Amino acid sequence: MTKVRTRFAPSPTGYLHIGGLRTALYGFLFAKKHGGDFVLRIEDTDTTRYVEGSVEIIYETMHDSGIVHDEGPDVGGDYGPYVQSERKSLYLEYAKKLVEAGGAYYCFCTPERVASLKDEEGNVRYDKRCLSLSREEIKARIDAGEPYVIRQNVPLEGAGTYTDLVYGDITVEYKDIEDGILIKSDGMPTYNFANVVDDHLMGITHVIRGTEYLSSTPKYNLMYDAFGWERPVYIHLPPIMKDAQHKLSKRNGDASYADFVEKGYVKEAIVNYIALLGWSPKSNQEKMSLSELIENFSLEGIGRSPAIFDDVKCRWLSGEYIKAMSDEDFEANATPFLKNSKAYGKYDSKKLLSLVKGRIQIYSEIPEKIDFLEEFGEFDLAMFENQKQKASVQLAKDILPRILDKLNCVTEWNNSSLFNALVELSTELEIKKQAVLWIARIAITAKEATAGGATEIAELLGKEETLKRLKFSMDLLYK
Ligand code: GLU
Repeated sequence: MTKVRTRFAPSPTGYLHIGGLRTALYGFLFAKKHGGDFVLRIEDTDTTRYVEGSVEIIYETMHDSGIVHDEGPDVGGDYGPYVQSERKSLYLEYAKKLVEAGGAYYCFCTPERVASLKDEEGNVRYDKRCLSLSREEIKARIDAGEPYVIRQNVPLEGAGTYTDLVYGDITVEYKDIEDGILIKSDGMPTYNFANVVDDHLMGITHVIRGTEYLSSTPKYNLMYDAFGWERPVYIHLPPIMKDAQHKLSKRNGDASYADFVEKGYVKEAIVNYIALLGWSPKSNQEKMSLSELIENFSLEGIGRSPAIFDDVKCRWLSGEYIKAMSDEDFEANATPFLKNSKAYGKYDSKKLLSLVKGRIQIYSEIPEKIDFLEEFGEFDLAMFENQKQKASVQLAKDILPRILDKLNCVTEWNNSSLFNALVELSTELEIKKQAVLWIARIAITAKEATAGGATEIAELLGKEETLKRLKFSMDLLYK
């Protein structure tokens, strides 16, 4: 069997959209699953859309996300060059072959003439005028330096059919396909031509790309057939939407891998979630490492309907990755976000991180979870009232001095000793321990909801600060 070869062929137009990364991921997973090669090709023939720096973003994103290519501009390979602008002469050579084979022709019509051609619906459509030029005339005009393009010669009748592995049989009537430009007047190929030549020359067996190419594929097949080349297998992927009406957009900052990394989603979770955008495994397992994804990936699991980006699920996955992460990795990944908190630098960073680790889904939630440590001050005493915890303002008045004494006597200032001391106190006072813990927490944080319980926070604050806060709250109560 021929070795499976897939490719990711992004255009350097700015940044790497989630949809693009999903295409790369599926190509990678499919190739790796079948012991094949995954190729990166940069499609930069449309110079008007080129954005400086985007090739670097592509390399960085792929490297960072673990979607590693076996061949590409940066790593080399036997089928290079892997950047289309470096393959310019090759396309002209193959376009000439296609002309010889009858699949294309030279066209000297001016852009103005072409623009003036309109069909009944008002669409500009080339009328094949140059198809009837004689060989001699073509040669003479080229020799005279007249500008020309090379156009595809699409039959006027008939239809092209192929089987897409996701969408099934696709048929497009040739009358609906125009004689598109394959080589522009500057000698550069269009995507429509370059993708065919490159996929063939690079030995690509499975073409995986977005649905926007589903209906253009019959015209590419015409070229494969005219060249006498074997057509690749096609796998078109459903679009990714924000919701039923909207696409993910750059403007909302929810369209690229980098956007999500910046917002503090765990990288592995982003890749894991992207895999589930349009594909589902046979089992119900959702959290999967890259190697588990390779193992479970199959084309049958790819659906046809648009995939909706479910942020709640993506965050949930991210939280699962955080829970499973080693403390060392968590520290390395979370510290840049920790630095955005008011509490950073005021307390032991490791303790701050352990306070938040099981309580966040994305790293950027860290500041909001711990900023309260630095927000202590006057508060509404009604917060002591809590029926569920059997606590009240009166009880707070009665027991806060005892809490203060008890904590003051604890010799080892850590969460478990402090906790044991308060439990002991509740037994002595014959009241529920939740009530004691609730009152202690309000008194040292001035907040009803905090990451961490009273004694966890007391450990972080340290003895001096904890006792100071308890006194402050007592003053407030007895005022
Ligand atoms: N350069 C094309 C794009 O970015 C690639 C399409 C394909 O995979 O064939 O949309």
